[in-house]
Amino acid sequence: MRAMRKTGAVEPDEHEEAQGAVTSEEGGIPVAPGADRYPALDLANSAVALPGGQVLDLLGTPAAATRWLVDHGLAPAEAELRETCAAQLRSLREQIRALVSSRVDGHPAPGSALNGLNDALTRAPAVSLLNWDATRGLHRALSHPTTRIVERALATLAADAADLLTGSDADRLTACGSPPCNRYLLRHGRRHWCSTRCGDRARAARAYARRTGTGTGTGTGTGEN
Ligand SMILES: [Zn+2]
Repeated sequence: MRAMRKTGAVEPDEHEEAQGAVTSEEGGIPVAPGADRYPALDLANSAVALPGGQVLDLLGTPAAATRWLVDHGLAPAEAELRETCAAQLRSLREQIRALVSSRVDGHPAPGSALNGLNDALTRAPAVSLLNWDATRGLHRALSHPTTRIVERALATLAADAADLLTGSDADRLTACGSPPCNRYLLRHGRRHWCSTRCGDRARAARAYARRTGTGTGTGTGTGEN
């Protein structure tokens, strides 16, 4: 899981093999292009739809959600989330997914998702505040560091999502074009798959459709490589 934060720059070409080398320890799922730079994108991708109708939820339990935050540098190693906190994180995930989806599809942003994201943004300062005391003088410190871990993590993730959705990378946001995958990525060139695995599956589906003369709905038809 820690490797997810150390992913190098994505090659701007079709060589997916190098990308597939970076894997999460959670089920061997590679980090999606762009999700290494935007933790909010990684959050959006944290409930992975697998072939066969299963969902791998990396935030499915308080322990899993804690590990996700620690691995992303958003909580101290000794943190222990309660289920209500994990649920808040999953809720923010759905709001970010709704906003990313509307951005990708060119639809109006859902008001409920905007409200939820803004609520997370304003619930806690995402930065260290300026403090003064007699021994240390002026210094920066987090407010209520032990009781507001989750609020701060939510605020940081919400701010990252806002940056992603309004910055220069927003136009490259795209949904993985390999059903049933539900992940989002930052597109490079024509590639619109989140992983080697998804690219292989989309190619296999197209090849099968060609061979059998059935189906035209595989992939998006724009990344024929
Ligand atoms: Zn995918």
